Amino acid sequence: MRKVRIHTFGCQMNVYDSERILAGLRPLGFEATQEDCEADLIILNTCSVRGKPEAKVSSMLGRLAPLKSRNPNLKLAVGGCVGKQHGQELLDRIPYLDLVFGPDQVGSIGELVARLYDDRVRLAQTADEADRDKVFATSNEDVVTGPSAFLSIMKGCNQFCSYCIVPHVRGREVSRDPDDILAHAQALVARGVRELTLLGQNVNRYGLDRPGLPSFAQLLRQVHEVPGLLRLTFVTSNPGDCPEDLIQCFADLPKLLSFFHLPLQSGSDEILRAMNRRYTRAQYFELVARLRAVRPEMHLSTDLIVGFPGETEAQFEETLSAARQLRWGSAFSFAYSVRPGTAAADLPDDVPAAEKNRRLQALQEILDECLHEGLVANVGSIATVLVEGDSRRGDGQLQGRTHSNYIVNLRVPEELEDQIHPGMVVKVKIIRPLLHSLRGEALGLVDGR
Ligand code: SF4
Repeated sequence: MRKVRIHTFGCQMNVYDSERILAGLRPLGFEATQEDCEADLIILNTCSVRGKPEAKVSSMLGRLAPLKSRNPNLKLAVGGCVGKQHGQELLDRIPYLDLVFGPDQVGSIGELVARLYDDRVRLAQTADEADRDKVFATSNEDVVTGPSAFLSIMKGCNQFCSYCIVPHVRGREVSRDPDDILAHAQALVARGVRELTLLGQNVNRYGLDRPGLPSFAQLLRQVHEVPGLLRLTFVTSNPGDCPEDLIQCFADLPKLLSFFHLPLQSGSDEILRAMNRRYTRAQYFELVARLRAVRPEMHLSTDLIVGFPGETEAQFEETLSAARQLRWGSAFSFAYSVRPGTAAADLPDDVPAAEKNRRLQALQEILDECLHEGLVANVGSIATVLVEGDSRRGDGQLQGRTHSNYIVNLRVPEELEDQIHPGMVVKVKIIRPLLHSLRGEALGLVDGR
C-alpha cells in the first residue's frame, strides 16, 4: 500500500472533498496516514475564505519540501480553493510542487494522480468542469467513518456577497441530479450511515439552475424517506432564500434535526446592504420567529463578521443587540479580512485591526453567554442521542449528538456497555454543561435501535 496524507483546511465542503479524495485514491492502492514523514503523496486541500491562505500554503509546502530528499517518490499536491485560484502560477513558482487541482477535479483525482506517477509529469488542472457527473463523482470506495456522513447536493454559488471568494473559486451554482443524490443516500445507509448532512454553499437554492429539478424542500422530503435513515440535516443556507415550504419541512419531517445554521453576518441593515446579503435585520428576526414557532427547541447557529469596511460603532452595536436578542446556540465570529478579487476588496479596509479585535472580543463574550445558556437549557432533559464513537476527551466515554445537534459526552453504565455502540440511538439523561458540549448518562436504547 502507498500512503497519502491529506491536510484539510476550511469548511465542511472541504472535509467532504477530502473524504472523496481518499476514496478516489484507494483503487490506486493508497491508504490514509496522519504522518507526513511516511507519506508517498501529501495533499493540501485548501480554503481561501479566511486568513492568508496562499502564504500558509507556501510556508507549509516549504516545510514539507525536505521530505522529498528522503523519499524521492514523494509527490506534493495542492487542491481546493487556493489551487483553483492560483493554478499554473503555483506550479511555476514552486518547483517541488507536483500537482495543482481545483474543487471540480476532486471526482477525477484518481486519473490525475495516476498520471503523476505513470507519466512523471507535473500537472495543473483547475478549469471549471462542464460534466456534472464528473463534478459530483464519488468512488464506490466511499469512505464511511461513522454513522454520520456528508452528501453533496450542489456546488458553487451565484450570490456574490461582497466579501466572499466562494463564487470566484467554486463557480456558479450547479445542482446534482436528484436520482444520483438518492442513490448515493441509499448506498451510504446500506453501509451503516444513519445521519446525512446535505451539503452545498447555499443549499436552499438547490434546483434553481435547471428547470424540472425538485426544490430544496422537495428534495429534503425525498431523502427523508430513504429507508434506514434516522436523521437528516443540511448546511449552509442564505437567510434570503428560506421559503415557507422549507420551514414547513421542520413541521412535517421528524428525522430533520432541530438545527439550522443561518448566517446573519451583521445586525446592521446598512452593512448587510454593503455585503450584498439580500435580507434585512427585520426579515432575519421574522425568519427566526417562524422557525422557533414550528420547533421551539430549534438550535440556531450563525456566522458574524465584525469590522466590515465602513462599519461604525453604532452599526457594530446592532450586531451586539442582535446577539443579545436572538440568543444563538452556537456561532462563528470573525474579524473582516480582505479577500482579493471580491467586491469588498475595492472598499477601504478602514476599521483598524485593534478596533476589529476589540469588537470581536465584545461580541464573543455575548456569544459565549448564549452558548452556555443553550447548553444549560438541556440539563435535566431526556435526549435522544445518536452515538458516533469514542469521546474526544479520551476518558473512555462515548460521544454522540442530540436531535438539536448538541454534542454529548456519554457515560454508559456497566450493565448497558454491551448493548450501546456507534450508530445506535440512545436515551440519555443530560447531567451538566461542559465548555462546548454536554455530559450525559445513557439510560437505554430508543425503540430497540
Ligand atoms: S451565499 Fe454569500 S457567503 Fe455564502 S457562499 Fe454564496 S457568496 Fe459566499
